Amino acid sequence: MRKLLVLASLISAVLGRKTFEGHQVLQITAANDVQISLLKNLTDHEHLELDFWREPVHESLPVDVRVPSTSLHRVKSFLKNNKIHYKIMIQDLQVLVDKEQQEMMRSRAHQPRSTDDFDYANYHTLDEINSFIDMLVKENPQLVSKIVIGQSYERRPLNVLKFSTGSNRPGIWIDTGIHSREWVTQACGTRFAKMIAASYNRDPALTAILNKFDIFLEIVTNPDGFQFTHTSVNLLHGYSPSINDGSFNLKPNPGSPCIGVDPNRNWDSNFGGPGSSNNPCKENYHGPSAHSESEVKAIVDFVKSHGKLKAFVSIHSYSQFLLYPYGYTKTRCKDRKELHKLARKAIAALKSLYGTSYTYGSIIKVIYQASGGSIDWTYDQGIKYSYTFELRPLQSSLYGFLLPADQIIPTAKETWLALMVIMEHTKNNPY
Ligand SMILES: [Zn+2]
Repeated sequence: MRKLLVLASLISAVLGRKTFEGHQVLQITAANDVQISLLKNLTDHEHLELDFWREPVHESLPVDVRVPSTSLHRVKSFLKNNKIHYKIMIQDLQVLVDKEQQEMMRSRAHQPRSTDDFDYANYHTLDEINSFIDMLVKENPQLVSKIVIGQSYERRPLNVLKFSTGSNRPGIWIDTGIHSREWVTQACGTRFAKMIAASYNRDPALTAILNKFDIFLEIVTNPDGFQFTHTSVNLLHGYSPSINDGSFNLKPNPGSPCIGVDPNRNWDSNFGGPGSSNNPCKENYHGPSAHSESEVKAIVDFVKSHGKLKAFVSIHSYSQFLLYPYGYTKTRCKDRKELHKLARKAIAALKSLYGTSYTYGSIIKVIYQASGGSIDWTYDQGIKYSYTFELRPLQSSLYGFLLPADQIIPTAKETWLALMVIMEHTKNNPY
């Protein structure tokens, strides 16, 4: 079934048909446990081709799901018959996709000559981000270098920007885009890189951090998935029936029509446990073994060989959360009090700019149980300040993964304030 669907989407791309015309994103609010389990059952109905942007977890969190036009009637009847409340979050997805494509095309007409000239208020392709990285290094040779920590499955370099003003320093790690369709994250990563380079010797707080720490920033942590999200076949950030999450890498799974692994279930932190799946066609497929994915393994090797990372921040979208360990267990992590207090301070700084509200807490408490996640692993490796952001928009917003490009810079600016709080605290509290 899924193979046929891939073929169908290829044909429609060749014929130039619009892929998401008439697709709606519904926001479903379950009233109780029974309705949550009904919605969970719905995730198993593969013939409906539903794409859950936010999974059914518990009543307090709305469920966002993209429904193809062919399934709309059945899904809405199902919801009505079971008295489950829903509203239409996106009326016609293709309208939003077209808008985003047009903005990108407009931006593409302009080739930046320097990082000052780069269009930070727009989404960019992998090639554009890679040339941005090279420009930034060239413009700031004393401060910025590019290190390649490995290769993706399709042999793309895994580029990391290193900001350093001295040798043998402890480090702070930031990654964006491990889930490829979370486009606002790579866009913010690009903006962060420019802010770090431009603020050294100008902003006293950042300068003090860079005088003690190196900062490592991996902007496109899943380059194969990201490249895939930009192809015409998969207009909606890489969604295809065979890559069901749009966030996966592109490694085939022997014996399965479904491609790729969820790189945020692949870490050796209760690998294979609750909140991950051994089914390659599920959106939280953990992969054949811990660290089996080269995009994950490269970071694992880097963290281990560096040995002195003191903060590790992995940036996702969406929902507006700031999260700390654990995801795999309800047991509180031993630094919970400090991490909680620091998270509160960070989101207060974030909110101070535009009033954007974040929820904070442990992963398992705020979202759901998830095994094999990156920051649980880094925390258990001894990196105390391990955090995950889920950036804009709010879960209940109108956009989901398609955050309008005019929100990129505000998102980057407010998130930067929270990052600065975490980095300064890391600097002031050596361990
Ligand atoms: Zn994510």
